[in-house]
Amino acid sequence: MPFSIRNGVLGHADHPVRQIPSPNHSGPFRRPPRFVVMHYTAGASARGSAAWLANPASGASAHLVIGREGEVLQCVNFENRAWHAGRSTWQGLSGLNDHAIGIELANWGPLAAQDEGWASPDGKPVPAILARHRHGGPECGWERYPAIQLETAAAIVGTLAQAYPIREILGHDDIAPTRKRDPGPAFDMADFRKTVFGDLPCGTVTAHSLNVRSGPALSFPVIDTLARGARVSLGERHRDWIAIAPERWVFAGYLA
Ligand SMILES: [Zn+2]
Repeated sequence: MPFSIRNGVLGHADHPVRQIPSPNHSGPFRRPPRFVVMHYTAGASARGSAAWLANPASGASAHLVIGREGEVLQCVNFENRAWHAGRSTWQGLSGLNDHAIGIELANWGPLAAQDEGWASPDGKPVPAILARHRHGGPECGWERYPAIQLETAAAIVGTLAQAYPIREILGHDDIAPTRKRDPGPAFDMADFRKTVFGDLPCGTVTAHSLNVRSGPALSFPVIDTLARGARVSLGERHRDWIAIAPERWVFAGYLA
């Protein structure tokens, strides 16, 4: 994998990742981030979106912006809490900025009908899929995500999952379903998760609240809890315990 992370900064084996530092963040995570939230910029170039997210006037940010040609811009250090999620909830957590890395993909989202096809707000034809968002709204064209953009994003999220205890990839429309529609129907989340995590076996938490311990025994400290219904990848086993990530173990009897 060509990407690496050092001190919260993304690196690439062949070239430096462009940094466009944003002041729009809340300082260090109190607990390591456990989610990645995917977004679209609803904009033209990744460079332009990153510049806006680095502007205090925007009041918003994301850790990364990934362009249509796979170019990567980092706006917020991964150790800090970026402002990408807004009002949001997931599995009993609220305010996902405190728990998630945010990645913006340069993409217009929904498009306007034009002649035989679909166009961006600035009037340019855009390759699209025809779809209705699962949360409702009209059927319309949504900008396609180019393969190089998705491959780059997947490689980076895979690298993040090695550096941090990332257990789930979410859409902004998962954590703020009444407000947000990104990354939208053109983003195949199931396929993306499979690309990142492979065909690892997955389990679902059946306990009301499941303790995550730093090792495979009750003597190890509880470092996290998972709510019923949370999906986890199933790794190494040790007696009745199963690893869901490096140094994160749960009692296997509470997984289905
Ligand atoms: Zn978003």
